[in-house]
Amino acid sequence: MFELENKDRKIAYFSMEIALESDIPTYSGGLGVLAGDTLRSAADLEIPLVAVTLCYDKGYFFQEVIQGRQIEREIQWEFSSEFEKLPNIVELHIQDKKFKIGGWLYKVRGETGFEIPVILLDSNIEGNEHWQKNFTHILYDATPFQRVVQEMILGQGGIRMLEILGFSGIQTYHMNEGHAAFGVFELLNKYHGNLEEVRKRCIFTTHTPVPAGHDRFDYDLIKDIFRDRLPSNFRDLGGKDQLNMSLLALNGSRYCNGVAQKHAIVSRKMFPGFEIDGITNGIHNNFWLNPYFRKLFDEQIPGWSMDYNLLQDVWDIGNYELWNQHMKAKIDLMDYEKSHSWVLLDEKKLTIGFARRITEYKRPTLIFNDVERLGKICKNRVQFIFAGKAHPRDTQGKDFIKQISDMSDYLYDSYGIGLVFLGAYDMDLAHLLVSGVDVWLNNPRRYMEASGTSGMKATLNGVLNFSILDGWWIEGYQKDPMAGWAIGPGPQDPNATKYPDSYDANDLYHKLEREIIPLYYNNRDGWTERMKHAIRLAAYFNTHRMVEEYAKRAWKLKLQPRWQSELNF
Ligand SMILES: *Cc1c(COP(=O)(O)O)cnc(C)c1O
Repeated sequence: MFELENKDRKIAYFSMEIALESDIPTYSGGLGVLAGDTLRSAADLEIPLVAVTLCYDKGYFFQEVIQGRQIEREIQWEFSSEFEKLPNIVELHIQDKKFKIGGWLYKVRGETGFEIPVILLDSNIEGNEHWQKNFTHILYDATPFQRVVQEMILGQGGIRMLEILGFSGIQTYHMNEGHAAFGVFELLNKYHGNLEEVRKRCIFTTHTPVPAGHDRFDYDLIKDIFRDRLPSNFRDLGGKDQLNMSLLALNGSRYCNGVAQKHAIVSRKMFPGFEIDGITNGIHNNFWLNPYFRKLFDEQIPGWSMDYNLLQDVWDIGNYELWNQHMKAKIDLMDYEKSHSWVLLDEKKLTIGFARRITEYKRPTLIFNDVERLGKICKNRVQFIFAGKAHPRDTQGKDFIKQISDMSDYLYDSYGIGLVFLGAYDMDLAHLLVSGVDVWLNNPRRYMEASGTSGMKATLNGVLNFSILDGWWIEGYQKDPMAGWAIGPGPQDPNATKYPDSYDANDLYHKLEREIIPLYYNNRDGWTERMKHAIRLAAYFNTHRMVEEYAKRAWKLKLQPRWQSELNF
């Protein structure tokens, strides 16, 4: 019998995607990156946690962008070289057939050597029929049937796998997003239909204020897959007409939260009657810091990586030194760009970055609202780098990529402005971007960004946020308005969601022309001071602080009070 060490885990963390390493393709974007950073912090803070996810042998997809067209390439990777195979097998039923789930082990190692085991579930194993082996092939690219089965593997299969592996001390099952909510059915079964016993053991984090972001399945499909294995009260838990996975998770949990203060408010409106807390997301600082700043911080702020409050001492670093190290990160990005594109960029120019999932609500083309005005403002002074994947089935998202690429030619020919769309967005490219640009642009439709985390990565690396007041930036800007700029009206304006796009675009152009460009070119010391304001925010917007808040409020663990969660600004 295989023996796993450290089975005295109290929290089981379930997530459909976890970004363990940049080139392990078990993530698509923000949700997975957050899950990865959560585990990295949990390991540093020695939280007794075990994580469960799926092992996608074809990953999400590798993105190529050729002449503005996104091409999705299948990923081939050998996960047997990254993970350790577990000998344990659990069985699940779909329809009237059995199939088997195996597991792989990966360990996230913290600064003190403490390890978080990650169990990756896999249906591609001996004894399964061919079509069953495909269940865990691809992340998210699936028919509703395929999705239900994947979520069943995560929720039900995950709990069974933990049991057979001997994790008998689990006190809290944490559903990171609704994908894992079939775990509620599994536990109901285990506790003979006693919902209170289940609720005592589950918590739920919701991640999106966009209604389409919550999985819903037709009951015909659910009944076909589960047959007689559904709990009798499934409609009370999952919704009358369709199974809403978030609702199921809410009904099955003792504690629920959104991922930023504003997102908690929006979520309470979406799901009236539920208590929904807000624990603002973070990033793992040591993971996301560029190597030049890391060296600088190690020298001048010793201990910063375990006690992020120390980042407030960033004031002691000289402006000249900070700027020089930033320029090194910028040159790294420019070098990468040169080897991946024909567009000529210049490291001396003010560089604006925009990288995130390319989809409508993020308004990736807002900045082109009045191209001629943009051209005149930025002529010979500002350049742009865009990146991000569109979901394979999001044709509108792919059109945005084409539009941005077309702008590249137009702005260069008409105004000498360099603009590039880089393909192959992943955590490695994200690292380069969030450290190597000067300004991080973010302009989603208001209150559709649950939190956003790329802006936190930018702030840590001294890159100034230029963003709509939504998600984490409402809090970041409130804590320190010198850490960047806001675009358009704030949440105190009751009509903030009603203005046309041109309203935000106008404010964007105005601030770019009157504040950002002059500060960059005429007052380098002023700029560098602002970079320090930005870095100081990272003392709060990190997953160490976030994990400690989860530990206290959600997981109910007793921990050393290492932190004063609030910064004294
Ligand atoms: C941080 C990150 C994201 C999330 O960025 P948002 O600002 O939350 O959209 C997505 N993809 C990758 C690769 C990242 O590193």
